[in-house]
Amino acid sequence: MKAPAFAYSRATSVNGALELLSAHGENARLLSGGQSLLPAMNLRLICPEIVIDIGDLAELRGIAVRDGIVSIGAMTRHVELLESAQIATSVPLLAEAIRHVAHPAIRNRGTLGGSLAHADPAAELPACMIALDATIVVRSQSAERRIAAVDFFQGIFATALSAKELIVSVELPIAQGASAYFFHEFARRHGDYALAGVAAHATMDGQVLSELRMAFFAIADRPVLAKAAAKLVNVTVTPALISEAAEAFGEELDPPEDQQASADLRRHLARVLFRRCAEELVDFGSVRVIQ
Ligand SMILES: Cc1cc2nc3c(=O)[nH]c(=O)nc-3n(C[C@H](O)[C@H](O)[C@H](O)COP(=O)(O)OP(=O)(O)OC[C@H]3O[C@@H](n4cnc5c(N)ncnc54)[C@H](O)[C@@H]3O)c2cc1C
Repeated sequence: MKAPAFAYSRATSVNGALELLSAHGENARLLSGGQSLLPAMNLRLICPEIVIDIGDLAELRGIAVRDGIVSIGAMTRHVELLESAQIATSVPLLAEAIRHVAHPAIRNRGTLGGSLAHADPAAELPACMIALDATIVVRSQSAERRIAAVDFFQGIFATALSAKELIVSVELPIAQGASAYFFHEFARRHGDYALAGVAAHATMDGQVLSELRMAFFAIADRPVLAKAAAKLVNVTVTPALISEAAEAFGEELDPPEDQQASADLRRHLARVLFRRCAEELVDFGSVRVIQ
C-alpha cells in the first residue's frame, strides 16, 4: 500500500516548523527519521494532510554537556548516540539500550525525538528516559515546556505533546558518585521489539542502593517504573528480599496479551528481569564512579 496524497514542507528553522504546526494542528505530522511515520502512512494508519520535514534543522541535533546535564537534540540519530564517547561515559545505559533498537539501517535514520514522540510501549528509549529521570523539552510557537519523562508517556502511542508542539531536546542528569546500570530485554530475535524489558539506573551509598529506578517496557501501555524497587533502597539487600520485591512487582502489573505473548508470560518475564536486575546491581560488579 501507499500513503494517500499529502503536502510536504521542508522546514528551514524551528520557528518555521512551529508556524506550520500551529497552522495545521492535528492535520500535520513532523518527519524526522521517518522509520515509524512512513510505514504508518503507507499502511494508512496515519493520513496527515501535510508532512513537515525537520531533518535539516541542525539546531535540533547534537550532544552537549554542561552543569552535570547531558543535553541531546531531538534530531540526534540512534547511530550518533551509539557512537558517542560522551554518551558512553556519561549515560552508558543509553548506549547499551540503543544496541537493541532495531538494526543498523533503522538506527542510521531513526532519531531520539522521533522514538519518544512515537511512544511505542515496547520501545527501549522511552524506558531509558524514565530510568535516567530525563526532562523532555518541548516547544510551541507561544511557549517552551519541560516535562518529566515519567509524565510524558501517557499510553499506547500517546504522549503529553500537543499537536502544536515539537520535542526540542532531552536533558539527562549525570549521576555523581557511585552509580550502576542494567539493561536487558527478552525479544524473539535481536533487534525485534521486546516481549518484556528493563532499563535501570541506581546510585550507591557505600554498600546500599540509595536510589533505584527500574523502568520496564513492553509490559503495559507505556513504560513503567517499578514501585517495588523501593523495597531494595537504603537497606541491606538479601536474596530473600529480592524474591519478595520481585513477587510484589508482579502484583503491580496488568500486562497486555497479544499474538506475541500472554499476560502471564509477560508477568513472568518481568519478574525474572526484576530479579536479575536487582541481583546484578547489588553485586556492585558494575559500579562506576563519575568524578
Ligand atoms: C523494522 C523496524 C524495526 C524497529 N525496531 C525498533 C525497536 O526494536 N525498538 C525501537 O525502539 N524502535 C524500533 N523501530 C522504530 C525506530 O526506532 C524509529 O526510529 C523510531 O520509532 C521513530 O524515530 P524516527 O526518527 O524515525 O521518527 P519518525 O518516523 O520520523 O516519526 C515518528 C513520530 O514522531 C513524530 N515526531 C518525530 N520527531 C518529532 C519531534 N522532534 N517532536 C515531536 N514529534 C516528532 C512524528 O510526527 C511521528 O508521529 C523500528 C522501526 C522499524 C521500521
